[in-house]
Amino acid sequence: MMIIMKVNATPQQVEGVIASVKEAGLNVHLSQGVEATIIGAIGETHNIPLERFESLDGVDLVQRITQPYKLASRQFHPENTILNIDGFTVGGDEIAVMAGPCAVESRSQIIETAIAVKEAGASALRGGVFKPRTSPYAFQGLGEEGLELLAEAREETGLPIVVEIMSQVQLDVMVKYVDVFQVGARNMQNFNLLRAIGETRTPVLLKRGLSASIEELLMSAEYILAGGNNRVMLCERGIRTFETSTRNTTDINAIPVLKNLTHLPVILDPSHSTGHANYVAAVARAGIAAGADGLIVEVHPDPAKAVSDGKQSLKPEAFAEMVKQVGQIAQVMGRGLAVSSAYQPAKQGWA
Ligand code: PEP
Ligand code: MN
Repeated sequence: MMIIMKVNATPQQVEGVIASVKEAGLNVHLSQGVEATIIGAIGETHNIPLERFESLDGVDLVQRITQPYKLASRQFHPENTILNIDGFTVGGDEIAVMAGPCAVESRSQIIETAIAVKEAGASALRGGVFKPRTSPYAFQGLGEEGLELLAEAREETGLPIVVEIMSQVQLDVMVKYVDVFQVGARNMQNFNLLRAIGETRTPVLLKRGLSASIEELLMSAEYILAGGNNRVMLCERGIRTFETSTRNTTDINAIPVLKNLTHLPVILDPSHSTGHANYVAAVARAGIAAGADGLIVEVHPDPAKAVSDGKQSLKPEAFAEMVKQVGQIAQVMGRGLAVSSAYQPAKQGWA
């Protein structure tokens, strides 16, 4: 339920409504936007009549949120959520480009990639250290050693790091290193993990499940938001269809649909959604034209030797070219590329 306050409502009136919501056994989520103050009454609201709050001082309107997700809904929070992640923003006018290898493999690989993506215009470095592999015999990631290497790469370039978390067991170690948690497609409905991340205040990139609907993605975001962590971005990474010429099918529709349904930033992963380096730039351009707030792209200095996802990884030169093209599309959309203000020029002598 949303209680929309009158434009001239006083802080005391807002407090009064909050007290009544709590009295009704509901949780309060206060959204103080430029246009309006909205008090979200979250919980089992279907038996509570709207009139209970309509007559309170300072209340303009009381509405039920019709979608099953509440905190993620644009109805509840009409303005875009803009996340500030170590000096750059996601969800506002800036397009954020996060890039790096599928998996951290070695010091030279991650440092070399970090410097290259930074120079090409990326605002964050990605790299997996706990990898969700289809085969238990495939490389599973470097674990904490990989986190140390990512931290070194961050030190070197100033780029914040985006790293996938697969289980709440990894939370204690990861929270010490990571700037953005990635929740991968396979874990989109790992509700225990989502709840655990909801207890932190670390930003989250939540990827859409392999066969998950947009509503299911939003319900998963709701788990994190309900814990009080409102620093969530959503990621379209392709869905399973009958088509076999690409690894997945980019659901380009998901971008405008999500922008309509939710206030959360929307990121596109053109790497996993196509599975082929040759198609990544085209789909990245399409994503920005469709209204995405950013991209997450796999880049490897030597894709042929990558231990995972080499086929879809861009070489640094191709990534730099993609960023240029994306920058032009962003301009057409009245936006620009985000630049991390945390950036310190790379020292010489690495790699
Ligand atoms: C990844 O980002 O390397 C990854 C495993 O992605 P997804 O969860 O989208 O498959
Ligand atoms: Mn990958």
